[in-house]
Amino acid sequence: MTTFKELSELCERLKETFGRKDKVSLIVRFLRNLDPIQVEYASRLLIGKPLPENMSDELDVGYNTLIEIRDMQSTLMHEPLTINDVAEKLLEIAKIKGYGSREKKKNIILGLLARMDEVEREWFMKIVIGEMQHGVNEGVLLEALAEIGGVSLEHIHRAYMLVGDIGELAKQLKIHGGGIVESIRLEVYRPVKPMLAEQCQDIRELFKEPNVMYALEYKVDGARVQIHVGYNGVKIFSRGLKDITESIPDVIEQVEKNVKKCIAVLDGEIIAVDSSNRPLPFQVLLRRFRRTRTFEEDLQIPLRLYLFDILYLDGLELMDLPYFERWNKLKSISSPDLLIPRRIAYSEKDVKEFLESATNAGHEGIMLKKLDGKYKPGRREKLWLKIKPSETLDLVIIKADYGYGRRTGWLSNYHLAAYDPETGGFEIVGKTFKGLTDDEFEWITKKLLELKIGEEGYTISVKPEIVVEVAYNEIQKSSKYRSGLALRFARITRIRLDKRPVEADTIQEVIRRYFKQFEKRALQI
Ligand code: ATP
Repeated sequence: MTTFKELSELCERLKETFGRKDKVSLIVRFLRNLDPIQVEYASRLLIGKPLPENMSDELDVGYNTLIEIRDMQSTLMHEPLTINDVAEKLLEIAKIKGYGSREKKKNIILGLLARMDEVEREWFMKIVIGEMQHGVNEGVLLEALAEIGGVSLEHIHRAYMLVGDIGELAKQLKIHGGGIVESIRLEVYRPVKPMLAEQCQDIRELFKEPNVMYALEYKVDGARVQIHVGYNGVKIFSRGLKDITESIPDVIEQVEKNVKKCIAVLDGEIIAVDSSNRPLPFQVLLRRFRRTRTFEEDLQIPLRLYLFDILYLDGLELMDLPYFERWNKLKSISSPDLLIPRRIAYSEKDVKEFLESATNAGHEGIMLKKLDGKYKPGRREKLWLKIKPSETLDLVIIKADYGYGRRTGWLSNYHLAAYDPETGGFEIVGKTFKGLTDDEFEWITKKLLELKIGEEGYTISVKPEIVVEVAYNEIQKSSKYRSGLALRFARITRIRLDKRPVEADTIQEVIRRYFKQFEKRALQI
């Protein structure tokens, strides 16, 4: 049995190794010697995500708890911990709920720490916090898995998007070898990572080529849902692949009423609406998912489902079909009431008109979809483009300052950072205290304190976890931050509970927008 000590030593070596290829080789050598279950666990532990990605439970162990117990004495004589011991205890911790759970979780961690030496403790803490700082993210791990399986990175990536959890994928690979990767298929009731969209850079570029057409759809501002209709009824999964069926019985009812009898996987968005079916802000929808409300109160906020894609129908996987064929299939099984408003565009004028009609109807913007585009799970490519009239960035809070005056006691000034996929780190691009309601300040303060990983004067550092959507007026050069850029008049427009920090906007996107401003200004003159 491979020990947790060996995994910790691997992490040490990864930290000291700088080349991506060298990191990949170290991981390959390590994982090759493990059995399937160990590969599953080690893969997750290595990237600081000890729980299966599609698991609804969370560790829920605060930084303060860890600090309290970090320096306890270890017992002198003990059996070394294996990778399985640690991974299984963490799974057990995630399952503990309700009264006394903090104490129970703490006791399990104490039991583990007592059996660890310094190096093991350091990496255990990092795993629990989810901040490994050894430069190995999912991308690096996928490269290692591709090498182990002798398959292309493209294939392994697709398999990962279909399986939805890197540990499970690694285990399958170990059991069946690389051949399994191509035969992994979409399965009803096993959610796949949803396809994403790129920002449309310039409407004028869209129709430069002759005979170009796009399908335009309203971009409705709610929560992404993946609907699986099978022999065991309708199940709905969130963008993060969590099963949310129980919390939205009214949406299930809409599917049952409006989708013909079939076995299917559908893609769509739910939004909150008022009594005349007009869209309500995203914040209202969020209330449906807050645990503080009763079910009856919840149901008073009506939800509306819009469908825009279909991935599977009656035994056939449809993801490789062109978009327009998928749309026709969707149309054949769904009542028009559920279909997203849509039209085909042949010119810039069509796009502008449709954008206006979408925003007049209270929606966020529009999507442009290539008619021949495949459905690419988990990918953000030019097959889907989004246009939103207002400019926002999704950024991660990595530090926060205590407020003063009316805001004494709250963490009310947030340091906002963009993700850097090249380093796996975060780069600050601005600070703000604007945009949140008192309730939200309170909620965020509580959450940030749970995520605290350091403190200096009035500022705390936090584990990058909370993603917020930030509106701004301009991006300026600034020597204040390492990124060299700062947002002017930043204000938070909403908290993005549905996004993970690695899904935030990237620093490269912020740089791109910085330069884009000059083009726009040049045009205005
Ligand atoms: P944003 O922050 O702009 O909502 P995002 O980062 O959450 O975007 P993107 O991939 O950039 O995700 O934008 C696509 C998102 O827009 C989808 O995940 C989905 O939730 C939502 N959406 C709304 N209407 C549509 C539509 N007609 N087709 C596809 N996605 C849609």
